[in-house]
Amino acid sequence: MRTTDDPTAPTPEPAARRRSRYKTRAAIQQLMDEHGSQRRRFCGHTTGGSVQVRHTPGAGGLRGVQRCGSVWLCPTCAATIGQHRADELSKALDTWRADPSHDVVMLTLTMRHHQGHTLAQVRDAYRSAWRAVTSGRAWTRTREAAGVVGYTRSTELTVGANGWHLHAHVLLFLDRPHALTRLAVEAFAMSAFDRWAAKLVAAGLPRPIASSGGLDLRAIREGGADGLATYLVKMAAAADDATGWVEEDSHRLPRAGEPGRTAGQQLATEAVRADLKAGRRENRTMWQVISDYLAHGEVSDRDIWREYEAIIPGTQMLVWSRGLRAAIAALTEDLPAAELTDQQVVDRDREGTTLGMLDATAYGHALRVAPDVIADVVTAAGAATPAEALVGVQAVLARYNERLDAEAAPQYLRLHLDTDPARIHRLDEGFRRLEREHATT
Ligand SMILES: [Zn+2]
Repeated sequence: MRTTDDPTAPTPEPAARRRSRYKTRAAIQQLMDEHGSQRRRFCGHTTGGSVQVRHTPGAGGLRGVQRCGSVWLCPTCAATIGQHRADELSKALDTWRADPSHDVVMLTLTMRHHQGHTLAQVRDAYRSAWRAVTSGRAWTRTREAAGVVGYTRSTELTVGANGWHLHAHVLLFLDRPHALTRLAVEAFAMSAFDRWAAKLVAAGLPRPIASSGGLDLRAIREGGADGLATYLVKMAAAADDATGWVEEDSHRLPRAGEPGRTAGQQLATEAVRADLKAGRRENRTMWQVISDYLAHGEVSDRDIWREYEAIIPGTQMLVWSRGLRAAIAALTEDLPAAELTDQQVVDRDREGTTLGMLDATAYGHALRVAPDVIADVVTAAGAATPAEALVGVQAVLARYNERLDAEAAPQYLRLHLDTDPARIHRLDEGFRRLEREHATT
């Protein structure tokens, strides 16, 4: 059962992961009927005209396509948004920790539940428990004592044999070195956990047990911030890898039944499991659930996905406590004080070069029948230089067209990159005009 739960298993290369996201999105869209969200159904489709293939060093992109911006339900948008949030969080962590008097500690709060609880019940309990954590005099008092300036909270959802499982990963930004505040931070965490647990009980859920996974507290090791940010945001967002970080000292509260297993080992396994646990039946991410459904067609998996689809989209995946982001943004040029919405992240038009254009009809056909080819176009467009990118994109298209030849598909379905400078210029102008109009409305 746990055959793929092997920490030494190779991480899939980025191109393979992008292909898988594009294919999964197309498959989800085919499952959706006309009552489903139109934005999600047509995510990736053209806005009407031709599609521009764009290049920036190391990143390819498409312009002229719609994006749904759904961080929970769309694998491609989730990856784009997750990457953006992880980059920002990582900059915030680096900026904060550049000051030797500052520190960051991660607090994880989990829930216990029964299979009988609906996702709506679990989500409501999660929300009210978190409100209880962050309100009242005990919060203010312990927070000041521990030097907690602010926090970010990421929400992670999995589903297992015991039903829905939500937990909160909370990064505590401290204005004094953790070595000095260890006891106060522990007191802060215990107090937070008490309010969390009491509220869950009031909501009808079993009381989580601090010493058996309900509460976890750990410091972050030097150099680990980048991977941590990726883990916190992207693990929830997409089945991407999130390796390469370990924590500093096992400052979590004692946990029974784990002889010989350091917190670091445990954490490393936890951090990589998004990739590794495919095929594991317990605690699957929602991307695994939908992939399992697409692969095996089990009705129970479809039902899990439908419930998730109905309940979860209103939840914010990453939350910054009031004032924290602005405080860190004031310390660096790298982090804008204003946070983009999920939709703004996917719609934002990055600086770059247009390599060429694809015909709308041929593009739309490929997106339906061979979404992995479009994924490969984006990957190839992200080569180091525009010249390499162009060669790479042409090669992907040539392979695809050979396939169409073999299938004797109609000529108009062939994908050709139109690199005519005058036409590219005209289309660029059109996009710029649209953006200006968009910006003024
Ligand atoms: Zn989307």
